[in-house]
Amino acid sequence: MYMPDFEYHTPRTLSEACALLAELGEKATVLAGGTDILHKMKVGKLAPEHLVSLKNLDEIREIRHEAGRGIVIGALTNHAAIYNSPLLQERYLSLPMAAHTMASTQICNLGTVGGNIVNGVPSADLPPILIALQATIRLVSASGERSMALEDFFCGAAETVIAPGELLTEITIPDQETTGSTYIKFGLRRSGALAVTGVAVSVCVEGDKLRDARIVLASAAPTVMRATAAEDFLRGRTISDEALAEAGTLAAAASRPRDSIRGSAEYRKNLAEVLTKRALRKAIDEGHV
Ligand SMILES: Cc1cc2nc3c(=O)[nH]c(=O)nc-3n(C[C@H](O)[C@H](O)[C@H](O)COP(=O)(O)OP(=O)(O)OC[C@H]3O[C@@H](n4cnc5c(N)ncnc54)[C@H](O)[C@@H]3O)c2cc1C
Repeated sequence: MYMPDFEYHTPRTLSEACALLAELGEKATVLAGGTDILHKMKVGKLAPEHLVSLKNLDEIREIRHEAGRGIVIGALTNHAAIYNSPLLQERYLSLPMAAHTMASTQICNLGTVGGNIVNGVPSADLPPILIALQATIRLVSASGERSMALEDFFCGAAETVIAPGELLTEITIPDQETTGSTYIKFGLRRSGALAVTGVAVSVCVEGDKLRDARIVLASAAPTVMRATAAEDFLRGRTISDEALAEAGTLAAAASRPRDSIRGSAEYRKNLAEVLTKRALRKAIDEGHV
């Protein structure tokens, strides 16, 4: 378990980082917190010739609110900063709560929201909540930039649409009418364990009806997935235990989990059903956004 040799770069600005990535091409890999990539290098799964560290790019580390846009989270923001953010605690508590149960303090001080997204794994905790909150992302490279809905970023297990030389720079949660959101993760331990299954929901309650609901499942398919049939079923419907149970059934029916060391596909489908129902009830009753 020795690290392979590599050349280490520490650009000081975003444009310097983009220029360097363009110059080095496929020989380079981006390093954020390193909690995932350094492990892959140690066990021989990756051996990049060049590591381009983002550690000096303070410009993509802050969390701020922009009028007319929403909350902008720099991709280099670590999990500890997410759970300590007064802005997120006040506006979207589901996100700090999820970050709080992710891994150990050491990992939370290093691991970034950008790395959690770009990894592209279906068990990642932050993408489901961000998708439930309609987040968009910004990708920047030496040749320009583009924005997209976060849910369009993932295209397969550990596969995303990011192009060589592109950097994820920020995630934006638009201001919205959501009245409640939550994330329930079932892991093999209470904290510091990947999701066997996770369910994020955001709801917009109007009187006794659900005007809208977004339901996003982790570890239930090759990518983080929206349970659109369950969402369509709930839209405009009167809130009842039966309706939430049916939404759980629809979410589980749409899921395509795999058997793994952490749980069988059948078990995960069962979890998707139960956790969807539970998460909806929690978001409706507690109204945490
Ligand atoms: C012990 C342990 C426990 C963990 N527990 C959890 C958990 O409970 N929940 C969970 O979701 N994850 C967990 N993880 C996984 C991991 O820590 C997180 O996914 C973390 O957020 C990854 O971020 P990072 O900054 O460390 O990524 P890195 O390892 O630096 O990078 C990961 C990948 O993303 C790319 N990348 C990173 N940032 C950018 C960017 N801005 N633009 C372009 N590409 C980029 C890198 O090139 C690399 O391919 C755990 C990991 C460990 C080691």
